[in-house]
Amino acid sequence: MVTTVIPVEPFDLVIFGGTGDLARRKLLPALFQRWRARQMPENARVICVGRQPLSDESYRSRIETSFREFPVPCVEDREALGEFLNGICYARVDVNGSDGWSELRRMLRQDVIRAFYLSVAPSLFGVITAMATEWKLVSPDCRIVVEKPFGHDLASARNLNAELSGRFDERQIYRIDHYLGKETVQNLMALRFGNSLFEPIWNSQYVDHIQISVAESGGIGGRGSYYDEAGAMRDMVQNHLMQLLCLIAMEPPAQFEADAIRDEKLKVIKSLGRVAKDDVVRGQYLSGPGVASYRDECGDPVSETESFVALRVHLDNWRWSGTPFYLRTGKRLRSTLTEVSVAFKDPVHWIFEEQANRKGTSLTIRLQPNEGITMRMTIKDPGPGGMRLTEVPLDMTFAEALGSNAEAMPNAYERLVMDVIRGNQTLFMRGDEVEAAWAWIDPIAAGWADLPGGLYMYDPGSDGPVQSHALLHRDRRDWQGL
Ligand code: NAD
Repeated sequence: MVTTVIPVEPFDLVIFGGTGDLARRKLLPALFQRWRARQMPENARVICVGRQPLSDESYRSRIETSFREFPVPCVEDREALGEFLNGICYARVDVNGSDGWSELRRMLRQDVIRAFYLSVAPSLFGVITAMATEWKLVSPDCRIVVEKPFGHDLASARNLNAELSGRFDERQIYRIDHYLGKETVQNLMALRFGNSLFEPIWNSQYVDHIQISVAESGGIGGRGSYYDEAGAMRDMVQNHLMQLLCLIAMEPPAQFEADAIRDEKLKVIKSLGRVAKDDVVRGQYLSGPGVASYRDECGDPVSETESFVALRVHLDNWRWSGTPFYLRTGKRLRSTLTEVSVAFKDPVHWIFEEQANRKGTSLTIRLQPNEGITMRMTIKDPGPGGMRLTEVPLDMTFAEALGSNAEAMPNAYERLVMDVIRGNQTLFMRGDEVEAAWAWIDPIAAGWADLPGGLYMYDPGSDGPVQSHALLHRDRRDWQGL
């Protein structure tokens, strides 16, 4: 199989926050890979905006240094790196002032696609969009890309949406959740809607329950002050886990088209039922050998913010009524893993002898590491001894199945940035989706404020607080291992 690269149209991409972490670690490396793949046209231009006085040359050499530090894949391809860096310009603009805007405007071309990537704190979205409009940088077809977090609650998300929609049409706004750009996330749709095998049994009649786990072995690192305001619920559940839940649970869209898909995702979010207090487990990691506690890392010795959350949620709709969805996410857990597991019910009439510890049939979709799919099947335990059953995995790792093509597949940011240029919003969140997600999260998070003692401590390297197991044991189920 050969991967097909369709070059995008010529473009000017302006990255506000060009000296920041995201631009250096993700955006520019992603663009470099697309350059190497010849998806970026030769006359594409990337304009990085920062506050510091830097020449193009000194900015390029900083980027080259950081590419080598990480290191970015294929950084040793000197010819491609040199060509790519030559296409990057630097513009000095303090977005709170008026200096630099007219120079920035002069750098933009009229006859190419124009996109603004706001890789800055959300508090700057308003001023950037206002100044870009005032200085006539905004063209009728330009795109604007905004990073997560999109708000802290429903009210702040509404404010951000209002700021953006006051100056841009919804079709111009690209709200990034980089999880949606991952190959396997899109495979959720291919798997469901490209195989007649699954769709007939994708409902509460056949599905016992669904688990979504997004676990990280690392701690909060240098993001302490941001994270302590957000916690796992706002940082992960509101966006990544909700998006995965939507793709797993949504009805088949009429077309593979951005709004058709986003309409169906919105219906899922709106059918999320109220979450009872005892259907939520919040946790926080303690210290361990060589590892600081959450409170030490965030610098607040009495912080009540959760670094782990597990929830039992249900969807009030025809397809899923009676099938619980268990979600969990946390930091400093045993491993770094993202997976969705669909556990199927036993056949309605069981003709074999009952056996202890039988897990039954399940389909697990791994997003990381080793993107792939595992189907757990029940078969006869080979050999003599009567009709005993056992379970075996039917395992497919994309890297093995697709060989070198898997390595050539674009990563999430590569795909998403190219989609912005192409004008394809399928993998981006619409404003109403984001608001509906906050409307569901807000009452849960508000309930915690008056829930003394509702935070359970867990050891680093574990699979979270024991209470998260009790959440499933209560329903006679178990988490799939981390
Ligand atoms: P950062 O603090 O490293 O960079 C922020 C950038 O904003 C810097 O380049 C800074 O110079 C610029 N900036 C600040 N004030 C400015 C002003 N007045 N005028 C012009 N430029 C100004 O932050 P980051 O980690 O790069 O994150 C950027 C955004 O992306 C944030 O909203 C963050 O939440 C989001 N995000 C980051 C990551 C990541 O991996 N870093 C991941 C997901 C989302």
